[in-house]
Amino acid sequence: MKIAVLKEAAGETRCAAIPETVKKFVALGAEVAVESGAGESASISDADFETAGAKLGSRSDVLRGAGIILTVNGPDGAALTGAEKGALLVGALDPMRRRDAVDAYAGAGLEALAMEWMPRITRAQSMDILSSQSNLAGYKAVIDGAAAYGRAFPMMMTAAGTVSPAKLFVMGVGVAGLQAIATGRRLGAQVSATDVRSATKEQIQSLGAKPIFVENVAGIEGEGAGGYATEMSEEYQKAQAELVSSHIAKQDIVITTALIPGRPAPRLISDAQVASMRPGSVIVDLAADAGGNVEGTVNGERVIRHGVTIIGASNLARTLAADSSALFARNLYNFLSAFWDKDQGAPVLPDDDEIVKSIRLTQGGKVVNERLTAA
Ligand code: NAD
Repeated sequence: MKIAVLKEAAGETRCAAIPETVKKFVALGAEVAVESGAGESASISDADFETAGAKLGSRSDVLRGAGIILTVNGPDGAALTGAEKGALLVGALDPMRRRDAVDAYAGAGLEALAMEWMPRITRAQSMDILSSQSNLAGYKAVIDGAAAYGRAFPMMMTAAGTVSPAKLFVMGVGVAGLQAIATGRRLGAQVSATDVRSATKEQIQSLGAKPIFVENVAGIEGEGAGGYATEMSEEYQKAQAELVSSHIAKQDIVITTALIPGRPAPRLISDAQVASMRPGSVIVDLAADAGGNVEGTVNGERVIRHGVTIIGASNLARTLAADSSALFARNLYNFLSAFWDKDQGAPVLPDDDEIVKSIRLTQGGKVVNERLTAA
């Protein structure tokens, strides 16, 4: 089995393989071909890949004869010219927003596997690219927030007087939010956090932060299928807005991470609430790419409103390319090795497997995933 690792398009810094995963694929009996320069922006040289046992070559060299193609982002159909029919294309293919590309994969006879549709089951945890990348994004959001904040995070007692600790508020306590809380605590901030899923209350407390929850609306349980949040009732949204209003005015840094699958990101902070914050405060909106949790967020940009810096953070994992590549590459390896059939020297993907059913987009020249065919 030949595995091709593609060099990503401009703007992407990550790589879908690292020397460690190359070695592991070689140990499974595979041959690995890496496109020249694929690891450069993640601090991995061609020589590092070669030492790990990969062959380096051009796009057409690596695609020729490859049964598996590893990528971070889904390439355009045209960028895969020369790929073998039946080859697996594995990566973050963004199927909802890139339907044309998915059709092109089907047309080229590729079997496209969208890793971001990995189900949230215990068996798939080590294959989950959303978790691995969110973790790093949560960390980097706090670092970026701290860098943009014109004051220090920890309390400092100096001969010239005391510096008060920063107050950090995390809205949305999933994978990214938990890491943001932990990072804020490590930097010495006073941290509080909120979510619609009541299960997060204990997690917030266990990290030494203060939970801020809507208590006075009956019948709330924001947890829907697969551990994801659901959209909340109007009554809840109103109570949440009031709670946030009184809390946010006293905060220095706010990190928002709230997402609802298949829906625009919920609006958690209004312009009036931004205006209530002290000038020099910073908001990092990790949901910027999904429409933003904050009124005034501009995706990929930094804007100042009422003296408050709002960072529309999109894909922060890219700014930690070496670590995010390592975790991403291991997610891909963990997935493929779990389905590897030693006798056939290739992965075997059963049609009735929950993971396969969730992530397989195309097969036999057709789009087969229910989420796409139903749309
Ligand atoms: P996510 O990225 O979908 O959303 C981020 C957070 O925003 C969630 O905690 C969500 O509840 C919250 N949120 C949504 N609407 C909100 C609102 N109006 N106000 C406040 N908060 C709001 O979530 P995620 O990081 O992917 O994680 C969600 C859960 O799934 C976690 O418990 C996580 O541990 C679990 N998970 C499990 C697996 C697995 O078992 N394989 C994999 C990934 C995540």
